[in-house]
Parts: sequence; structure tokens; C-alpha cells
Amino acid sequence: MADLGKPQNTIAVLQKYNFNFQKKFGQNFLIDPRVLEKIISAAEIAREDFVLEIGPGIGTMTQYLCENAREVTAVEIDRNLIPILEDTLQDYENVEVINEDILKVDINRLAQEKNNENPIKVVANLPYYITTPIIMGLFESHVPIDSITIMVQKEVAARMQAGPGSKDYGALSLAVQYYARPEIIANVPPNCFMPRPKVGSAVIRLVRHGHAAVQPADERQMFRIIRASFNQRRKTLVNGLKNSPEISASKEQIAGALEELGLNPDVRGEALTLEQFAKLSDVLGTQQS
Ligand code: SAM
Repeated sequence: MADLGKPQNTIAVLQKYNFNFQKKFGQNFLIDPRVLEKIISAAEIAREDFVLEIGPGIGTMTQYLCENAREVTAVEIDRNLIPILEDTLQDYENVEVINEDILKVDINRLAQEKNNENPIKVVANLPYYITTPIIMGLFESHVPIDSITIMVQKEVAARMQAGPGSKDYGALSLAVQYYARPEIIANVPPNCFMPRPKVGSAVIRLVRHGHAAVQPADERQMFRIIRASFNQRRKTLVNGLKNSPEISASKEQIAGALEELGLNPDVRGEALTLEQFAKLSDVLGTQQS
């Protein structure tokens, strides 16, 4: 089968099947071999790997994955793409296509069946509106993950990778960095896709930490504090937390906790590292109980 990374081959397949793009599924297909190569090399796909691909489209990246991995499972929601995938992937025996919404797939079971519960690699170019729930769902459900290499909206990539003090730093940065080390691999302009999206994109790789980056006594309490801190960005941390319905500590308790951590009483959430949020959560947790 011809390389679908070449635009003329993608056009030929789309015409052969008279395919209509579905906006609701966020269908923008990659048509740039250099970007595809970059994703494959960033994901460090090796012969022994099992790869889960989310949203294969017409199978462009899937072909590249099949060439490099031991086994690939590709989960595609649009049933109109299934006969196309059967055609474009006919040369490969190491691929299974599942016609399902990824949010309904038991990925823990998949990892168990296909990879003996060993950490899997995930590669995806997804509609942007479901990127965050999918990434956080994969991390929070404790699926054994080695890395996630994913195309996201450029601004979302910047938020995932941002550190304290940056304008992009926020709850998403901390949630992602709690589980993984993010690294932006490449910016991808709209002309690398068919049809062209309205926004710029970036490939980001999230490598799961071997050991948790921090170990708060109560993970959920730490994330409640993080959310409350960034909900009211312009407020000081004390005021942000005091006004949050999710946090029950008094203003005095919060001020006392900041003092205990050696932080300025006027500090804003955006100045705190993940480690400081974990400590704050532990100190407040002790004070509230
Ligand atoms: N990977 C292909 C590529 O790079 O050319 C297609 C990318 S396109 C941006 C997103 C793909 O994800 C589409 O094929 C779409 O139908 C599929 N998709 C959208 N929502 C999905 C979901 N919830 N579960 C599985 N696939 C989904």
C-alpha cells in the first residue's frame, strides 16, 4: 500500500471511498511524512513494543507504527473509516482495529492481554476537545503507561510543559507533571493536515515517571488546592483558597501553613512548584483534621 503520508495518496483513498469528513470527530488527517517520522522517532517505537493508537483515521500513522512496532491496536470511533482501514492496512499482520469510542475501551485489560501488563506506548492525533480527558483518564486510571506521544493544540502543549512563573502555568501543567515529564517535540502548522485546522498544533511526549514526582498524603486534597489556587488567578493564594468551596481551611490556617513552608503571605498560586503544593496539602491536611 502506498505511503499515505504523501498528500496525493491520501486524496486517492478519500476519493476511492467517497469519504466525507465528520466535524464532530475532529477529523484532520496528517499529510506530511516528515511530521510522521518525527512522531515515530520521538515515541521511540522499538521492535518489541505494543502500541495503542487512538484515532487512526485512514491509517496513515498506523502504517508507520506497524513498520516499527511488534503489535499495534488502533481504536477508531468512525465506522465509515473501518473499511478504509481494512484496505490501507491490508499488508500488515501486526495490527488490530477496534471500532469503538476510546473513552469506552478498557485499556487496562488491553494492556494485560496484549502486553502482559507491561507499560504500553500510546500514540495519538486526536480531536482537541477530548485530548485532556483522554490523557488524564489514562494517567488517573493507572493504566500501565510508558509514554504518550500526542498531537495537541499548540497552546495546550505550552500549558502542559510550563513551569512556575510562566503565564501558561496552571492546573493542567501540574496535573500532567505529577504523572509525567512533558517534552514538546515539534510545532506542526495547519498545512500539514487535510483539511487544515484553524489552530496551530504541536507534538508533545509525556514520559511517565518511574516514581511519583511528589507523594502527598492525600492526592485528591492536593488537586483540590491546585484547582482552587488557579481558579482565581489574580488573587493571592490565601484569598483564592479561602474563597473556594472545595477547601475548608480558615484564612488563619492557610496563612499559618504558608508561614510553615517559608512562603511569603502574599504569594500567588502560579509561583508554587508541584513540590510546594504537595507540602501545602500535607500541612493543611494535618491542620484540618
Ligand atoms: N491519526 C490520523 C491522522 O493523523 O491522520 C487521524 C487524526 S484525526 C485528527 C482524529 C481521529 O480520531 C479521527 O479519525 C476520528 O474519527 C478519531 N476519533 C475521534 N474521536 C474519537 C474517540 N472518542 N475514540 C476513538 N477515535 C476517535
